Amino acid sequence: MRSTSQPVMSPLASSSAYDVAAVRATVPALHQEIANRPLVYLDNAASTLRPERVLEAVDHFERHDYSNVHRGIHELSQRATTAFEAARTKVASHLGASRPEEVIFVRGTTEAINLVAQTYGRSQVSEGDVVLVSEMEHHSNMVPWQLLCLEKGAQCLPIPMCDRGELRLDELDRLLDSSVKVVAVTHVSNALGTINPIREIAAKVHEAGAVLVVDGAQGVPHLRVDVAELDCDFYAMSGHKVYAPSGVGVLWGRHELLDSMPPWHGGGNMIRSVSFEQTDFNELPHKFEAGTPNITGAVGLGAAIDLVDDLGPENIARHEAQCLQAATEGLLEIEGVRILGTASSKASVLSFVVDGVHPHDVGALLDRDGVAVRAGHHCAQPVMQHFGVPSTSRASFGIYNDLEDVERLVAAVRRVQEFFG
Ligand code: PLP
Repeated sequence: MRSTSQPVMSPLASSSAYDVAAVRATVPALHQEIANRPLVYLDNAASTLRPERVLEAVDHFERHDYSNVHRGIHELSQRATTAFEAARTKVASHLGASRPEEVIFVRGTTEAINLVAQTYGRSQVSEGDVVLVSEMEHHSNMVPWQLLCLEKGAQCLPIPMCDRGELRLDELDRLLDSSVKVVAVTHVSNALGTINPIREIAAKVHEAGAVLVVDGAQGVPHLRVDVAELDCDFYAMSGHKVYAPSGVGVLWGRHELLDSMPPWHGGGNMIRSVSFEQTDFNELPHKFEAGTPNITGAVGLGAAIDLVDDLGPENIARHEAQCLQAATEGLLEIEGVRILGTASSKASVLSFVVDGVHPHDVGALLDRDGVAVRAGHHCAQPVMQHFGVPSTSRASFGIYNDLEDVERLVAAVRRVQEFFG
């Protein structure tokens, strides 16, 4: 059994093989006991734990370089601005953006999608128009569009999925016509793990003359994301799901779209000049960053992106796929356990139910075994309705999980089944 003391190891995986022990060694929160057992953290789809590298970047910035950004001429403000803008450049390069100004810092995926709905959506969607949203969306890529449609007298319609949890592209074809202005789809489902074929969807959406908004909250942590290759129009992400602090995230948008969109929040930084007669708005990205941003959060996000880049998104995906496969096989061996979401292309998110046991009881019993999973509807109630369940238990794997974590999960679920069986 592993101990909770933190071994001193190189923070990075070797180039030839993914060195999960070295990654684990750099995440202090992992090295503790819960219920007298070493913690197994499998709630990464909700929020990830912070590696030393992110903690150190945040700590160093707060201690030495913190000040407000952009308008200061003194040394600290210049250092803070340099660090903040360096984080923007890192994110832009990580996402394959054509320029850093396409990266807008926001609070997270939820705010990013609300921004698009309230600016692009408000200016482009009219009465009688349609917004298509997939059946597997997190509420944050659904409710902002419902609010917009309510305001505009437009319709928000679902793109159905099949019982494996794959999007029905034939249904998308049927729904796409000239009344559709926006299609909103998640890259990876947080409730089922499905990886959607974004490039294929983008081709269909563009042919119909609409724009594609992608919720990348679960895409960035698990996959290499290249917005140019995906050919989407907007891509939203959250820092806290990719090893950065909470309260910071990103909206990426095509430059020409962002440039033509009206601003959203008004205030400092988003203006060029203000008078009672006329106010002129700032250029990108500042036009969408009213007020003091989460400066330290952005610096932490930059450090997290550096870490993911150094580990290599492909290596991370391969490693997590091993955990997913082992956990899937292990859970399916337990009588009465059913997995929701059996798409052919899946990221490391595993939703399951244990016959006759409420998912909250599963979560609580697993916690007594030191295994942290999430139980609930995962802010995806239409997914739960599709499968006829109120909620599921969900194990989700990140860069620091290993096969020992999988064994602990499977053993703990087995004990739940025995307890109730
Ligand atoms: N979209 C997906 C797929 C998610 O998993 C989440 C969070 O769980 C969100 C959106 C919302 O992210 P945030 O709360 O960081 O805005």
